Amino acid sequence: MVLGNVRLADSGQIVNISIERDQIDSVSPTTINANDKLLLHFEDSIVFPGLINSHDHLDFNLFPQLGNRVYSNYTEWGGYIHKEFKQEIADVLRVPQHLRILWGVYKNLLCGVTTVVNHGERLATDNALINIFEDTHDLHSIAFEKLWKLKLNNPLKRALPVVIHTGEGTDKQASREIDSLIGWNKLGRNLIGIHAVAMTAEQAPHFKAIVWCPQSNDYLLDKSAPINQLKSFTKILFGTDSTLTSGWNIWDHINMARGTGMLNDDELYQSLNKTAANVWEINGGEIAKGKSADLVMAKAKGSISNYDAFYATQPADIQLVMHSGKIRLFDQHMLPALAPQLKGQQFSLIQLGDSFKYVAGNIGQLITSIQTYLPQVVFPFTFIHQQIF
Ligand SMILES: [Zn+2]
Repeated sequence: MVLGNVRLADSGQIVNISIERDQIDSVSPTTINANDKLLLHFEDSIVFPGLINSHDHLDFNLFPQLGNRVYSNYTEWGGYIHKEFKQEIADVLRVPQHLRILWGVYKNLLCGVTTVVNHGERLATDNALINIFEDTHDLHSIAFEKLWKLKLNNPLKRALPVVIHTGEGTDKQASREIDSLIGWNKLGRNLIGIHAVAMTAEQAPHFKAIVWCPQSNDYLLDKSAPINQLKSFTKILFGTDSTLTSGWNIWDHINMARGTGMLNDDELYQSLNKTAANVWEINGGEIAKGKSADLVMAKAKGSISNYDAFYATQPADIQLVMHSGKIRLFDQHMLPALAPQLKGQQFSLIQLGDSFKYVAGNIGQLITSIQTYLPQVVFPFTFIHQQIF
């Protein structure tokens, strides 16, 4: 397949991208001879790598945001919601886990996320529509992970990075727990800290990276991690966390982050792309020969100067999402051009805002199955029908 006449979201350069199986074969400013390949010609569209969401709990995305005030740390919040929202939590957990995970996958895919670093138990998911990255050693947090010191110092896990919620609070406890984690890292393992709201510039160099989840932090703590002070000492990645503490749409999170000015436009962009791919050691996050063909095309809105169109993107603007060279989502207007490519594949037509998208799989059946357990759930789109091309 050749994606013709698309504008790179970072540099603004117009290019043509050739895809060979699951990889990018060439990126060229001059026209690529499509030969027998399908040529998709775009007008006024930007292209960027499929986004990397470095923190989510895929099976927790049927929860509404739970909480009703500002908390001083995650243990206070956790205790509170398990007491005050017992029924809401039990209702969601009645939905079988595989259905909850699949919705978590769609939540990300609808926004152009093609890689999610899932936190928690390993998920046995085959043929997912996006990459679910789990080559990590996940510890929940110092407060909620039993035997965390022993697990942290398990020599058999040494090769894997330790991913742990840390410093999720604004009080002394949150700050002290980061010191405790650093002090107990006897094997010098690579630490990737989630949230890091209480982290200082002195603590940051002990982490290979931290994952900034600004919307979740704002909801729980009314405070963000001091990313502008930490970014010189560690790598900054971007995460949404689940809908327990944030909205479903990562573009709202990204815009909130941009609004703080704590990362510049390029740093924020790369926290979702190249920086994340480097930290997780995955072959993505860049539009270059040999990289995984994880790509998103979106209608260019606003000025065409560098990055403005990228940051103006919303899910309704997405024209095409490709994951490992396979089409996972496309705007309805592309159907005539794509039809030859889709024979035998199952897609669902949905309305998202004022746009219509085809999404891989049978999302209607998923919704119906979920609603048998959780009739009150509201999805951010309307399902129209499913079809096999
Ligand atoms: Zn989390």
